[in-house]
Amino acid sequence: MSFVRFPESVVSCRNLVGGEWISPAGASAQEVRSPYTGALIGRVPLTDASGVAQAVEAAKAAAQGWRGTPLRERTQFLQRFRTLLEGQLERLAHLAASESGKTVAEGRAGLLKGLEVCDFALSLQNLDGGAHLEVSRGVTCEYRREPLGVVAGITPFNFPAMVPLWLFPIAVTVGNAFILKPSEKVPLTATALGELMVEAGYPPGVFSVVHGAKPAVDALLEHPDVKALAFVGSSPVARHVYVEGSRHGKRVLALGGAKNHLIVVPDADPDLTPQAVVDSFTGCAGQRCMAASVMLAVGDVQPLVDDLVRRAARLEVGPGMGALIDRGAVDRLETAIAKAQADGARVLLDGRGKRPAGEAYANGHWLGPTVLDGVRPEMEAARRELFGPVLSIVRVPTLSAALAVENASPYGNAASIFTTNGAVAQSVVEGARAGMVGVNVGVPVPREPFSFGGTGESKFGHGDVTGPSSLDFWSQLKKVTRKWSARTDGSWMS
Ligand code: NAD
Repeated sequence: MSFVRFPESVVSCRNLVGGEWISPAGASAQEVRSPYTGALIGRVPLTDASGVAQAVEAAKAAAQGWRGTPLRERTQFLQRFRTLLEGQLERLAHLAASESGKTVAEGRAGLLKGLEVCDFALSLQNLDGGAHLEVSRGVTCEYRREPLGVVAGITPFNFPAMVPLWLFPIAVTVGNAFILKPSEKVPLTATALGELMVEAGYPPGVFSVVHGAKPAVDALLEHPDVKALAFVGSSPVARHVYVEGSRHGKRVLALGGAKNHLIVVPDADPDLTPQAVVDSFTGCAGQRCMAASVMLAVGDVQPLVDDLVRRAARLEVGPGMGALIDRGAVDRLETAIAKAQADGARVLLDGRGKRPAGEAYANGHWLGPTVLDGVRPEMEAARRELFGPVLSIVRVPTLSAALAVENASPYGNAASIFTTNGAVAQSVVEGARAGMVGVNVGVPVPREPFSFGGTGESKFGHGDVTGPSSLDFWSQLKKVTRKWSARTDGSWMS
């Protein structure tokens, strides 16, 4: 069991604007309490439209010089940031855990994934050579990749380091000035990332942090100088950000919530499968957009179900599994479990009321692993994102019935098949609707340079936030056609 180290004193978060840490004028402050203990660990300002405008102005002033800095030079700043981030990995893993409720191991994993994204961005100078071609006698065409100017990222509570790191290393390296609006529930890690960006020596205004909630997001959506926005969070807010941002003429990519399906067939590996299912639905206390939520049990897989329930029952609620973000999340999940029961589901394992031993965690927010069986596809427990350590088992007679349930989900983040049969696996790879598919993998997060992104209500907009298509999202291609030759015998182009 990993012990979470809290910050030594209460952190008063401030905005990073034009390279300075400032308290936004007139902003009210909100307390940040650790999901583990309820202890006060920070305060976060809730920036209003005027505070956002101040940050955009500083970013706009920085964007001009930054876009004129060659890619190779921009990359050197990121190299310094990457080195600093790696050096601070343990501290940041604990910080992320203390404010989000995730385990320290998961905090570490998120940072390692963030380092991978940095590596991808660091390789751009070697990979993105543009293109240049003689298209007609004496006439050449060339692509110039150019930044957009001021761009922003709005991020959720459950990955305080990783999700911001999906966005800004690439956006900044292609030459944009980036404003991070982290979740007001986890402002401490974002502040620490900002401190490292300052220490890396980025010119003031190239990277900004604006703390706040809906008013800050809406101000970014409406500001004419913000040219692109990436959002990661729940589907209703993702839709709002996509619609409003697009209405204001911005480029928007908005990742939403999820309801991920694990399809388990009778020939699934009996050792690997139950543990992978348990790890997937209980990891980070189920607060992962890639967590298993529905297990589609095809035919007779009762021994696997019995085994996974036994394994989940052995898990200790507490810092080894992670806490829920707040009391509201516990209430929401307990209500959803009761509703599933009322709808006819059987509770094979009930996590309600489970708490870690000891006074230290008495004010934390807890739910033990919960397994619901006999969930029908039309029930809320099978369709709505629950975002906690709850697995809904839906029994289906055939693989095609399993795929029909998966395909009918409004979401489309992840789906996995557990089988030892290659043909079965391939039919799920081809037939699943989800944007990320796993074979015998419970959390099928692609590793860089393979991009991350779902379909349906799990992603509004085109392309992905990481990998090669992120380059196109954060930049535009200027097409240059040149003719220097004085020839007169050219083609129609000349
Ligand atoms: P959330 O939607 O409540 O908040 C996300 C961000 O939006 C925060 O910065 C928040 O301040 C802001 N926000 C909240 N309500 C808003 C509103 N009404 N208008 C404008 N802005 C608003 O999400 P959360 O609870 O912080 O995070 C959990 C959710 O994020 C889950 O649904 C999870 O599946 C999803 N998520 C998705 C991915 C993915 O890759 N698809 C990754 C991580 C998390």
